[in-house]
Amino acid sequence: MDKKEFMVKAVDDKKDLILELSDRIYDFAETGFHEFKSAELFEDMLKQQGFTVEAGIDGMPTAFKATYGSGHPVIAFLAEYDALPELSQKGGSVKREKAEGDNPDGHGCGHNLLGAGIFAAALGAKAYLEETGKSGTIILFGCPSEEKGNSKTLMARDGVFDGVDVAFTWHPADVNAVVTSSTLANVSVFFRFKGVTSHAAAAPDQGRSALDAAELMSVGVNYLREHIISDARVHYAYRDVGGIAPNVVQGHSCVHYFVRAPKSWQVQDILKRVIDVAEGAAKMTGTEMSYELYAGLSDFIPNHVVSEVLQESLEELGAPDFDKSDLELAHEFFYNSYSHDEIEAFKAGIKKNFGAEADKYIAEPLHTGIAPLRWDRPIQFGSSDVGDASYVMPTAWLSTATATLCTPGHTWQMCAHGNTGIGHKAMLRAGEVLALAAARFIDEPELAEKAKAELKEETGGKYECPIPDEIGPRLDE
Ligand SMILES: [Zn+2]
Repeated sequence: MDKKEFMVKAVDDKKDLILELSDRIYDFAETGFHEFKSAELFEDMLKQQGFTVEAGIDGMPTAFKATYGSGHPVIAFLAEYDALPELSQKGGSVKREKAEGDNPDGHGCGHNLLGAGIFAAALGAKAYLEETGKSGTIILFGCPSEEKGNSKTLMARDGVFDGVDVAFTWHPADVNAVVTSSTLANVSVFFRFKGVTSHAAAAPDQGRSALDAAELMSVGVNYLREHIISDARVHYAYRDVGGIAPNVVQGHSCVHYFVRAPKSWQVQDILKRVIDVAEGAAKMTGTEMSYELYAGLSDFIPNHVVSEVLQESLEELGAPDFDKSDLELAHEFFYNSYSHDEIEAFKAGIKKNFGAEADKYIAEPLHTGIAPLRWDRPIQFGSSDVGDASYVMPTAWLSTATATLCTPGHTWQMCAHGNTGIGHKAMLRAGEVLALAAARFIDEPELAEKAKAELKEETGGKYECPIPDEIGPRLDE
């Protein structure tokens, strides 16, 4: 039996357990830092499978670390299992239909599949260590609250990933591809202004308006936009406008800002200038300004060595083994769950992305190919805490087609795929691909050294966490 056949069999042997984990987490649908049932089930299954489990690591009750084996290479698999608010959806249904029960939340980003696919990968890699008797340590990190809590950022900052030689993760999507695009680094900051209240008609001269300060800050930042790099993004929301009475000079206000850019250092540069603008607004209005760094994420650095191994594994195993019923369901989703305009926009996207194969994918909108490994893909205009993981260990990222082509993330349609044959088959394939890639690192330990040298070259061995040391996980929000 070759390595590929070994991995297919190793995952197939545990298929019932892997699907049970996926479907039960789908039904639990717990949002960030409240994944108590999901984490407990995950931990129990890992223990049953011979892993040593540390629960509640790094101050997060739903984070965990499961370890098997010893020695190098130390291979990390990063699992997520949090749901999204208000996206409860009956699996497999092509119309918006809440799942049974009272829970309003649902897996609109497919993290039930993500967690279970990582479980499959860890079981496959463990089986390979057992079979060969080779040196190697498998660590499955349970990383809660990806959607709002940035657990991997905290773990990277706090040294939880220290000693790892190579890290893998994946994400449910609509294509089979190794993800080579970077993501945007991001910080989230609250700016607060403190003024002096007074009667707006009788004693306006006595007042110092915190609302004026917030508004002037917005004006200043909107002028700043012209003089920052075009790939940066700055967005804001008013959190406190100082009250509802026009005849009272507002004594307090708060504006919540996001600053995003391709690299973490660019975010820090722009943030300094946004802080200058806020100080200027305070000076102009005679108010006091304070700011609070709420959260932050680094950009994703895709590791070439690890990504190439992942691509070879993906090509060796091929696309998920979809059958006729999967193709029919994808057709239903594509043509019967969106508006006419959305469908036309999807078709235009397919024509742009698939060239000669576009007609085939418009007729059968389920990705049955493998995207080539390309390093010229544009940046993804979103952010993920995998970015911080990628600064401290060589990391690569895969997606498989767990959903119909063009299914947007964070939608009920994405949620509806989460316990279907499409989702299951693509998730199992992702697990096999990750396990096969891990086996390559077990067989060829020098690959991990190459991957680490590449990361060191890229970062100079430096990682500055965008979240200051004194800020812990925001468990209650
Ligand atoms: Zn996600």
